[in-house]
Amino acid sequence: MEDYSEWREAGRIAGEALKYGKALIKPGARITEVLDKIEEKIYSLGGKCAFPPQISMNDVAAHYCPEPGDEFCFKDELCSLDLGVHVNGAIGDTACTVDLSGNNQRLVEAAEKAIDAAIEKAAIGVKLSEIGAAIQETISDHGFAPVRNLSGHGLGRFKIHDEPSVPNYNDKGNTVLKKGMTVAIEPFATTGQGLIHEADDATIFSLINKKPVRNIFTRQILKEIESYNDLPFTTRWLARKFPMIKVNFALKELLQNNIIKAYPPLVEVAHGLVSQAEHSLLIDDKVEVLTRV
Ligand code: MN
Ligand code: MN
Repeated sequence: MEDYSEWREAGRIAGEALKYGKALIKPGARITEVLDKIEEKIYSLGGKCAFPPQISMNDVAAHYCPEPGDEFCFKDELCSLDLGVHVNGAIGDTACTVDLSGNNQRLVEAAEKAIDAAIEKAAIGVKLSEIGAAIQETISDHGFAPVRNLSGHGLGRFKIHDEPSVPNYNDKGNTVLKKGMTVAIEPFATTGQGLIHEADDATIFSLINKKPVRNIFTRQILKEIESYNDLPFTTRWLARKFPMIKVNFALKELLQNNIIKAYPPLVEVAHGLVSQAEHSLLIDDKVEVLTRV
């Protein structure tokens, strides 16, 4: 029987960090400073980053992290803040959306109501397709489309994307929620077509294949990457320890040798605006929303 205390702790820290980070997203705030502060908050609360905190804007649904030294400051964007915390590999994954324009409140609400509907539906024995149906119906009722090729996921120790996949629409599947599962549910609502594709220029990566490398810079950087426990990392983290010219050289070599995998920004195909909400749940006799604080 797994002890869930570390999952509860990771979830609580993630929830606190999300609340803290959400309040920092304001016109004039610099994106890199906001993300750095969120990371500091996670560590000060006793957690570690399960992946780099990220703020995806407007038609970008996920996986946007600024380059080191990026001076971008928020103005009127639709900002989805997504962060993950781990405590000894037990993960809490949570997200919310901040509308700085004031014109997209209903889109934000669509994702929030969808996560509420999904949580209400979640219980031992419930089909994941029923959760997806609840998400789809809520988002459609708001006049938007769910993003169908993004989904929630099981959470494993040191494994962010574990089985099962939790659809954001009724995929007619028969997989059910089981007692003891930890899952992240993450509806995305969009004014576009409800599909994303991968853009270029990833800044998020993870180690997938441990293999020796010859180049001295690449070897040094690979050593640092190994300290992330196979969890995703971002170029900004490496830039704190190494010159960017070495980082870029090493990342290129590591990608070419299939040692790391890139997670490029995910952009809505029709460039619709995208909102997101996410919570991590423990499926038990009574479902616990681990990241709700
Ligand atoms: Mn997330
Ligand atoms: Mn997630």
